[in-house]
Amino acid sequence: MDLKTKELVNKGVMLPLMEEFYTIQGEGNHTGTAAYFIRVGGCDVGCHWCDVKESWDANLHPPTHADIIVENANKYAKTIVITGGEPLMWDMQYLTSSLQNKGLQTHIETSGAYPLSGQWNWICLSPKKTKLPLEGIYPEAHELKMIIHNQNDFLFAEEEAAKVSAKCTLYLQPEWSKKEKMTPLIVDYVMKNPQWKISLQTHKYLNIP
Ligand code: SF4
Repeated sequence: MDLKTKELVNKGVMLPLMEEFYTIQGEGNHTGTAAYFIRVGGCDVGCHWCDVKESWDANLHPPTHADIIVENANKYAKTIVITGGEPLMWDMQYLTSSLQNKGLQTHIETSGAYPLSGQWNWICLSPKKTKLPLEGIYPEAHELKMIIHNQNDFLFAEEEAAKVSAKCTLYLQPEWSKKEKMTPLIVDYVMKNPQWKISLQTHKYLNIP
């Protein structure tokens, strides 16, 4: 990468873009909503069950000018979901302010492991045990999405729920490879602890990206 590109990436004016696509938000609070997804490369959180491991190495994804990303997004949807990878490894201010200037809604899916940057209409925080969120993001989260891969994850979910604001919606979502085993446990847990809701990866059931 040449120096000029590196400088623009550091400022968030260019971002390592893995893919962008128009689809339906499959999980969490906005399930069923048509949305344009921007998947930014780079993640060092290291979830062993990660279903986008090809996103981890940012060097594999071409630095792309945020203006081009915004122009593409603006053709498709009002709701723009920025995901990864871990998008907060990059400065999100330029991209999100440009999207909002076009009247678009900015949503993020993040582990919270890096400092919060950018202007967001919706923050979905999905903490991971391998690299916990930084303290500053908890009060800002609109939605807490805890992935349940095994029984111990219920305890971790409660620990994380104790850190978010009272207005934050709480979701338990079965990890896809364990869904047969964990979904019945989640159903039971939510009926006993109705402050939680169930989130399913409906896009995977629908066979859409
Ligand atoms: Fe994968 Fe997300 Fe975990 Fe990173 S934080 S390893 S992208 S599931």
